[in-house]
Amino acid sequence: MLKIIVCIKQVPNTDNVQFDWKKGALVRKGIENITNPDGLHAIEQALAIKEQYESHITAITMGPPQAEETLREAYALGVDNCVLITDKRFAGSDTYITSKILHKAIKHLGNFDIVITGFETLDGGTSQVSYQLAEFFDIPHFTQVDRLEISGTSVIIQRLYGHEYQKVKTDLPMLIAVKKELNSVRHARLIDIKVSFDKKITILNMEDIGGSAEEYGFSASPTKTLEGEVVRHKRKQERFEGTSVEKIEKLVGKLKKYGIIKY
Ligand SMILES: Cc1cc2nc3c(=O)[nH]c(=O)nc-3n(C[C@H](O)[C@H](O)[C@H](O)COP(=O)(O)OP(=O)(O)OC[C@H]3O[C@@H](n4cnc5c(N)ncnc54)[C@H](O)[C@@H]3O)c2cc1C
Repeated sequence: MLKIIVCIKQVPNTDNVQFDWKKGALVRKGIENITNPDGLHAIEQALAIKEQYESHITAITMGPPQAEETLREAYALGVDNCVLITDKRFAGSDTYITSKILHKAIKHLGNFDIVITGFETLDGGTSQVSYQLAEFFDIPHFTQVDRLEISGTSVIIQRLYGHEYQKVKTDLPMLIAVKKELNSVRHARLIDIKVSFDKKITILNMEDIGGSAEEYGFSASPTKTLEGEVVRHKRKQERFEGTSVEKIEKLVGKLKKYGIIKY
Protein backbone atom coordinates (compact mmCIF):
# COMPACT_ATOMS: atom_id res chain seq x y z
CA MET A 1 0.00 0.00 0.00
CA LEU A 2 1.30 3.49 -0.89
CA LYS A 3 1.72 5.86 2.03
CA ILE A 4 0.99 9.41 0.89
CA ILE A 5 1.55 12.55 2.97
CA VAL A 6 -0.16 15.74 1.83
CA CYS A 7 1.04 19.06 3.24
CA ILE A 8 -1.63 21.73 3.39
CA LYS A 9 -1.66 25.16 4.96
CA GLN A 10 -4.37 27.41 6.31
CA VAL A 11 -3.90 30.95 5.00
CA PRO A 12 -5.60 34.29 5.56
CA ASN A 13 -7.97 35.18 2.76
CA THR A 14 -5.66 37.65 1.03
CA ASP A 15 -8.53 39.73 -0.37
CA ASN A 16 -8.45 41.66 2.90
CA VAL A 17 -4.98 41.39 4.32
CA GLN A 18 -2.97 43.90 6.41
CA PHE A 19 0.80 44.10 6.96
CA ASP A 20 2.62 44.86 10.22
CA TRP A 21 5.59 46.94 9.00
CA LYS A 22 7.39 46.81 12.35
CA LYS A 23 7.34 43.01 12.56
CA GLY A 24 7.62 42.54 8.82
CA ALA A 25 4.78 40.03 8.88
CA LEU A 26 1.14 39.69 7.88
CA VAL A 27 -1.48 40.62 10.47
CA ARG A 28 -3.28 37.29 10.78
CA LYS A 29 -5.63 38.21 13.66
CA GLY A 30 -9.30 38.82 12.84
CA ILE A 31 -8.93 37.69 9.22
CA GLU A 32 -11.02 34.95 7.66
CA ASN A 33 -8.91 31.84 7.04
CA ILE A 34 -9.19 29.47 4.14
CA THR A 35 -7.34 26.37 2.98
CA ASN A 36 -4.58 27.41 0.62
CA PRO A 37 -5.91 26.63 -2.89
CA ASP A 38 -2.80 24.72 -4.05
CA GLY A 39 -3.20 22.49 -0.97
CA LEU A 40 -6.67 21.45 -2.15
CA HIS A 41 -5.15 20.56 -5.52
CA ALA A 42 -2.47 18.55 -3.67
CA ILE A 43 -5.25 16.59 -1.91
CA GLU A 44 -6.92 16.04 -5.30
CA GLN A 45 -3.66 14.64 -6.69
CA ALA A 46 -3.41 12.25 -3.72
CA LEU A 47 -7.01 11.10 -4.18
CA ALA A 48 -6.38 10.53 -7.91
CA ILE A 49 -3.38 8.31 -7.03
CA LYS A 50 -5.53 6.46 -4.49
CA GLU A 51 -8.14 5.75 -7.17
CA GLN A 52 -5.42 4.04 -9.20
CA TYR A 53 -3.27 2.42 -6.51
CA GLU A 54 -4.13 1.17 -3.03
CA SER A 55 -3.07 4.06 -0.79
CA HIS A 56 -3.37 5.62 2.63
CA ILE A 57 -3.43 9.43 2.71
CA THR A 58 -2.38 11.55 5.69
CA ALA A 59 -2.91 15.31 5.53
CA ILE A 60 -0.66 17.41 7.75
CA THR A 61 -0.51 21.07 8.54
CA MET A 62 1.63 23.25 10.77
CA GLY A 63 -0.19 26.19 12.25
CA PRO A 64 -2.14 27.55 15.20
CA PRO A 65 -4.96 25.42 16.74
CA GLN A 66 -7.57 26.87 14.33
CA ALA A 67 -5.69 25.25 11.43
CA GLU A 68 -7.75 22.20 12.46
CA GLU A 69 -10.52 23.65 10.19
CA THR A 70 -8.31 23.00 7.18
CA LEU A 71 -7.84 19.38 8.25
CA ARG A 72 -11.62 18.91 8.62
CA GLU A 73 -11.90 20.04 5.01
CA ALA A 74 -9.24 17.48 4.05
CA TYR A 75 -11.23 14.75 5.83
CA ALA A 76 -14.40 15.84 4.03
CA LEU A 77 -12.60 15.54 0.68
CA GLY A 78 -11.53 11.96 1.48
CA VAL A 79 -8.14 11.73 3.19
CA ASP A 80 -7.71 8.91 5.71
CA ASN A 81 -5.83 10.61 8.54
CA CYS A 82 -5.03 14.15 9.70
CA VAL A 83 -2.18 15.58 11.77
CA LEU A 84 -1.93 19.08 13.22
CA ILE A 85 1.56 20.28 14.16
CA THR A 86 1.04 23.07 16.63
CA ASP A 87 3.18 24.61 19.33
CA LYS A 88 3.65 28.22 20.48
CA ARG A 89 7.41 27.67 20.21
CA PHE A 90 6.98 27.26 16.41
CA ALA A 91 5.37 30.72 16.00
CA GLY A 92 7.20 33.12 13.71
CA SER A 93 9.02 30.36 11.83
CA ASP A 94 10.14 31.30 8.33
CA THR A 95 10.03 28.93 5.34
CA TYR A 96 13.29 27.19 6.29
CA ILE A 97 12.18 26.42 9.85
CA THR A 98 8.68 25.50 8.61
CA SER A 99 10.27 22.95 6.25
CA LYS A 100 12.46 21.65 9.07
CA ILE A 101 9.39 21.17 11.32
CA LEU A 102 7.42 19.45 8.54
CA HIS A 103 10.41 17.18 7.86
CA LYS A 104 10.71 16.17 11.52
CA ALA A 105 6.96 15.65 11.88
CA ILE A 106 6.76 13.45 8.76
CA LYS A 107 9.73 11.42 10.00
CA HIS A 108 7.93 11.01 13.31
CA LEU A 109 4.95 9.53 11.42
CA GLY A 110 7.13 6.79 9.89
CA ASN A 111 7.96 5.69 6.35
CA PHE A 112 6.21 7.22 3.34
CA ASP A 113 6.23 6.78 -0.42
CA ILE A 114 5.04 10.14 -1.73
CA VAL A 115 4.89 13.61 -0.18
CA ILE A 116 2.57 15.97 -2.03
CA THR A 117 2.61 19.72 -1.41
CA GLY A 118 1.04 22.69 -3.11
CA PHE A 119 3.42 24.74 -5.27
CA GLU A 120 2.88 28.02 -3.42
CA THR A 121 0.69 29.70 -0.84
CA LEU A 122 -1.54 32.75 -1.05
CA ASP A 123 0.13 34.48 1.90
CA GLY A 124 3.88 33.69 1.97
CA GLY A 125 3.91 32.66 -1.66
CA THR A 126 7.63 31.89 -1.68
CA SER A 127 7.29 28.37 -3.21
CA GLN A 128 10.29 27.45 -1.06
CA VAL A 129 8.76 24.86 1.26
CA SER A 130 8.40 21.98 -1.22
CA TYR A 131 12.01 22.30 -2.44
CA GLN A 132 13.39 22.64 1.08
CA LEU A 133 11.36 19.66 2.27
CA ALA A 134 12.67 17.50 -0.60
CA GLU A 135 16.20 18.62 0.31
CA PHE A 136 15.72 17.74 3.99
CA PHE A 137 14.60 14.23 2.95
CA ASP A 138 17.12 14.05 0.08
CA ILE A 139 14.43 12.77 -2.30
CA PRO A 140 13.55 13.75 -5.89
CA HIS A 141 11.20 16.73 -6.35
CA PHE A 142 8.78 17.07 -9.26
CA THR A 143 6.45 19.82 -10.44
CA GLN A 144 3.93 19.80 -13.31
CA VAL A 145 3.16 16.09 -12.87
CA ASP A 146 0.45 15.15 -15.32
CA ARG A 147 0.48 11.34 -15.00
CA LEU A 148 2.12 8.66 -12.87
CA GLU A 149 2.78 4.98 -13.45
CA ILE A 150 3.94 3.21 -10.31
CA SER A 151 5.38 -0.27 -10.34
CA GLY A 152 6.86 -1.45 -7.05
CA THR A 153 9.22 1.33 -5.99
CA SER A 154 9.74 2.53 -9.55
CA VAL A 155 7.76 5.45 -11.00
CA ILE A 156 7.41 6.82 -14.52
CA ILE A 157 6.26 10.41 -14.43
CA GLN A 158 4.79 12.33 -17.33
CA ARG A 159 5.45 16.04 -16.80
CA LEU A 160 3.87 18.92 -18.63
CA TYR A 161 6.89 20.89 -19.78
CA GLY A 162 5.80 24.07 -21.53
CA HIS A 163 4.17 22.84 -24.72
CA GLU A 164 5.80 19.43 -24.46
CA TYR A 165 5.53 16.34 -22.32
CA GLN A 166 8.58 15.01 -20.55
CA LYS A 167 8.81 11.42 -19.31
CA VAL A 168 11.11 10.72 -16.37
CA LYS A 169 11.82 7.63 -14.35
CA THR A 170 12.54 7.74 -10.65
CA ASP A 171 12.27 5.73 -7.45
CA LEU A 172 10.04 6.18 -4.46
CA PRO A 173 10.04 7.99 -2.09
CA MET A 174 9.57 11.29 -3.91
CA LEU A 175 7.92 14.68 -3.53
CA ILE A 176 5.43 16.26 -5.91
CA ALA A 177 4.49 19.96 -5.79
CA VAL A 178 1.09 20.64 -7.32
CA LYS A 179 -0.13 23.78 -9.08
CA LYS A 180 -3.80 24.59 -9.41
CA GLU A 181 -3.83 24.35 -13.22
CA LEU A 182 -3.17 20.61 -13.06
CA ASN A 183 -6.49 19.28 -11.77
CA SER A 184 -9.97 20.28 -10.61
CA VAL A 185 -10.77 19.87 -6.95
CA ARG A 186 -13.81 17.67 -6.27
CA HIS A 187 -16.65 18.96 -4.10
CA ALA A 188 -17.07 17.40 -0.68
CA ARG A 189 -20.42 15.71 -0.12
CA LEU A 190 -22.59 17.08 2.68
CA ILE A 191 -22.48 13.75 4.52
CA ASP A 192 -18.66 13.72 4.37
CA ILE A 193 -18.50 17.28 5.72
CA LYS A 194 -20.75 16.24 8.62
CA VAL A 195 -18.74 13.08 9.37
CA SER A 196 -15.44 15.01 9.17
CA PHE A 197 -16.24 16.75 12.47
CA ASP A 198 -16.23 13.40 14.35
CA LYS A 199 -12.86 12.26 12.99
CA LYS A 200 -9.72 12.21 15.10
CA ILE A 201 -6.95 14.72 14.51
CA THR A 202 -3.53 13.77 15.86
CA ILE A 203 -1.76 16.71 17.50
CA LEU A 204 2.03 16.93 17.44
CA ASN A 205 4.11 19.44 19.40
CA MET A 206 7.82 20.07 19.95
CA GLU A 207 8.21 17.19 22.40
CA ASP A 208 6.78 14.79 19.77
CA ILE A 209 9.07 15.85 16.92
CA GLY A 210 12.14 16.53 19.10
CA GLY A 211 14.55 19.43 19.38
CA SER A 212 14.66 22.46 21.65
CA ALA A 213 12.87 25.82 21.62
CA GLU A 214 16.00 27.65 20.31
CA GLU A 215 15.83 25.63 17.07
CA TYR A 216 12.35 26.88 16.11
CA GLY A 217 10.31 30.03 15.71
CA PHE A 218 11.22 33.60 14.88
CA SER A 219 14.68 33.80 16.50
CA ALA A 220 15.90 30.61 14.81
CA SER A 221 14.66 31.74 11.38
CA PRO A 222 17.38 32.92 8.99
CA THR A 223 14.92 35.05 6.94
CA LYS A 224 14.50 38.63 8.14
CA THR A 225 12.03 40.89 6.38
CA LEU A 226 13.88 44.18 5.79
CA GLU A 227 11.20 46.18 4.05
CA GLY A 228 7.77 45.73 2.57
CA GLU A 229 5.56 47.61 0.18
CA VAL A 230 1.91 47.33 -0.74
CA VAL A 231 1.69 47.29 -4.51
CA ARG A 232 -1.58 48.65 -5.86
CA HIS A 233 -2.26 48.25 -9.54
CA LYS A 234 -4.10 51.30 -10.81
CA ARG A 235 -5.10 51.87 -14.40
CA LYS A 236 -4.08 55.18 -15.95
CA GLN A 237 -7.21 57.12 -16.88
CA GLU A 238 -7.66 60.02 -19.24
CA ARG A 239 -10.89 61.81 -20.08
CA PHE A 240 -11.26 63.52 -23.49
CA GLU A 241 -13.32 66.71 -23.73
CA GLY A 242 -15.16 68.16 -26.76
CA THR A 243 -17.72 66.95 -29.25
CA SER A 244 -18.02 63.26 -30.09
CA VAL A 245 -15.95 63.74 -33.27
CA GLU A 246 -13.23 65.66 -31.38
CA LYS A 247 -13.13 62.99 -28.66
CA ILE A 248 -12.76 60.24 -31.25
CA GLU A 249 -9.97 62.18 -33.01
CA LYS A 250 -8.12 62.61 -29.70
CA LEU A 251 -8.56 58.94 -28.89
CA VAL A 252 -7.26 57.88 -32.32
CA GLY A 253 -4.29 60.27 -31.88
CA LYS A 254 -3.41 58.61 -28.55
CA LEU A 255 -3.77 55.09 -29.94
CA LYS A 256 -1.40 56.03 -32.80
CA LYS A 257 1.05 57.65 -30.37
CA TYR A 258 1.30 54.43 -28.36
CA GLY A 259 1.56 52.30 -31.51
CA ILE A 260 -1.73 50.50 -30.86
CA ILE A 261 -2.99 51.49 -34.32
CA LYS A 262 -0.62 52.32 -37.15
CA TYR A 263 -2.61 54.41 -39.69
C1 LIG B 1 10.24 36.32 9.47
C2 LIG B 1 9.01 35.52 9.18
C3 LIG B 1 8.09 35.27 10.19
C4 LIG B 1 6.93 34.52 9.93
N1 LIG B 1 6.04 34.28 10.92
C5 LIG B 1 4.93 33.55 10.69
C6 LIG B 1 3.99 33.27 11.73
O1 LIG B 1 4.16 33.69 12.85
N2 LIG B 1 2.87 32.53 11.43
C7 LIG B 1 2.68 32.06 10.17
O2 LIG B 1 1.67 31.39 9.92
N3 LIG B 1 3.56 32.29 9.19
C8 LIG B 1 4.67 33.04 9.41
N4 LIG B 1 5.54 33.29 8.41
C9 LIG B 1 5.26 32.79 7.11
C10 LIG B 1 5.70 31.37 7.06
O3 LIG B 1 7.05 31.22 7.24
C11 LIG B 1 5.38 30.87 5.70
O4 LIG B 1 4.05 31.15 5.37
C12 LIG B 1 5.57 29.39 5.69
O5 LIG B 1 6.87 29.09 6.07
C13 LIG B 1 5.36 28.81 4.35
O6 LIG B 1 5.99 29.57 3.38
P1 LIG B 1 5.13 30.01 2.16
O7 LIG B 1 3.82 30.48 2.67
O8 LIG B 1 5.94 30.89 1.30
O9 LIG B 1 4.90 28.57 1.50
P2 LIG B 1 5.24 28.07 0.05
O10 LIG B 1 6.65 27.62 0.01
O11 LIG B 1 4.77 29.05 -0.98
O12 LIG B 1 4.28 26.80 0.11
C14 LIG B 1 4.42 25.67 -0.75
C15 LIG B 1 3.67 24.51 -0.15
O13 LIG B 1 4.33 24.08 1.04
C16 LIG B 1 3.36 23.53 1.95
N5 LIG B 1 3.35 24.32 3.18
C17 LIG B 1 3.79 25.57 3.39
N6 LIG B 1 3.59 25.95 4.67
C18 LIG B 1 3.02 24.90 5.29
C19 LIG B 1 2.55 24.65 6.61
N7 LIG B 1 2.65 25.57 7.56
N8 LIG B 1 2.00 23.44 6.89
C20 LIG B 1 1.91 22.47 5.94
N9 LIG B 1 2.31 22.65 4.67
C21 LIG B 1 2.86 23.84 4.35
C22 LIG B 1 2.00 23.64 1.27
O14 LIG B 1 1.74 22.45 0.59
C23 LIG B 1 2.24 24.80 0.28
O15 LIG B 1 1.31 24.76 -0.78
C24 LIG B 1 6.70 34.04 8.63
C25 LIG B 1 7.63 34.32 7.62
C26 LIG B 1 8.77 35.05 7.89
C27 LIG B 1 9.74 35.32 6.77
